[in-house]
Amino acid sequence: MLPGLIAGDYRFDEAHLDLDFLCQRAGAAFIESAALGLDTAAKALLLADGQRREYDLLSINTGSRPDLSGIAGTKTFGIGVKPVEGFLREWERIRGEAARRRLRIAVVGGGAAGVELVLAMERGLGRGARADFHLVTDTPEILPAHPPAVRRILTRALEQAGIALHCGRAVVAARPGELRWDNGGILRVEEVVWALAASPPAWISKSGLATDTRGFVAVNSQLRSLSHPDVFAAGDTATILHAPRPKAGVYAVRQGPVLAQNLRAALEGRRLASHVPQRRALSLLNTGNHRAVASYGPLALEGAWVWRWKDWIDRRFMARYRAD
Ligand SMILES: Cc1cc2nc3c(=O)[nH]c(=O)nc-3n(C[C@H](O)[C@H](O)[C@H](O)COP(=O)(O)OP(=O)(O)OC[C@H]3O[C@@H](n4cnc5c(N)ncnc54)[C@H](O)[C@@H]3O)c2cc1C
Repeated sequence: MLPGLIAGDYRFDEAHLDLDFLCQRAGAAFIESAALGLDTAAKALLLADGQRREYDLLSINTGSRPDLSGIAGTKTFGIGVKPVEGFLREWERIRGEAARRRLRIAVVGGGAAGVELVLAMERGLGRGARADFHLVTDTPEILPAHPPAVRRILTRALEQAGIALHCGRAVVAARPGELRWDNGGILRVEEVVWALAASPPAWISKSGLATDTRGFVAVNSQLRSLSHPDVFAAGDTATILHAPRPKAGVYAVRQGPVLAQNLRAALEGRRLASHVPQRRALSLLNTGNHRAVASYGPLALEGAWVWRWKDWIDRRFMARYRAD
């Protein structure tokens, strides 16, 4: 729902869940802090507020971040699309800025997140605000993981929205006001949003947990760490080593119920369930104009009805976790 929130299709409360309420309902203590480190020997989690929380079982579900490792200067220029709360704060600032002067804004990353995001930003800028948008990606075309028909539809949507597309351009460096490509070319922009491939949080690589080659927690089909049986992980943070899948929410949400079941089973000494991730997943890509594209294997379907279908799926999911 994030692109829909940016585009103005959803209010903040429609696209967010109340974790405090959910924890109360589940009889769990809610601690609003960031995990910064893990001491697996002492079985303790280190938190940003200085707390050290010991655990019997730990489940890590902290998602992913855009992979900025190949780009110099990202600390001085640009915003990652995740963490989402930081991005939303910056987006409000950008909208305010664009109401005062015409901005050039680049989104870097031509996967589903980057394409949806730039379309949503263009539409959600607000009345009176002005900006020229650029989408930059290092692949020859956008959406390399999707079929040609989906690429064509989204390329057309970008053209219609007046978004400049720069394919085959690997950004290697950033500094305030400019992006530098690997061939030495420069794109001058006032704002940049990083929507690159997912990478794991840095603290996980220092934890000593077994990981895949990219540093995501390596788990078995029970979502249990391959090196530390008292640690579980699911969602973007984890890779089921024998059945890796793209980092997408559709896989994460299906792991949730198995994770819950297995945490209980592990505590009670019962048999753990196995999770078999689906081979391929349906992607519903928001084209930013109350239309969407369904991408499944080689198939592509587009229309206003696809957006209504996506909206219905997303709202139904959120409703399951709401107080009202
Ligand atoms: C623009 C965009 C559009 C997308 N659209 C789709 C889509 O249509 N379909 C789809 O399947 N996927 C989509 N994705 C991918 C999807 O967002 C992720 O795959 C999904 O959110 C992963 O779920 P998760 O629970 O593992 O992590 P997240 O949803 O990222 O949740 C992680 C949570 O952990 C918290 N957290 C992070 N670090 C810490 C820490 N150190 N300590 C404590 N808490 C922490 C975060 O605040 C967050 O609440 C999209 C992604 C983007 C960026």
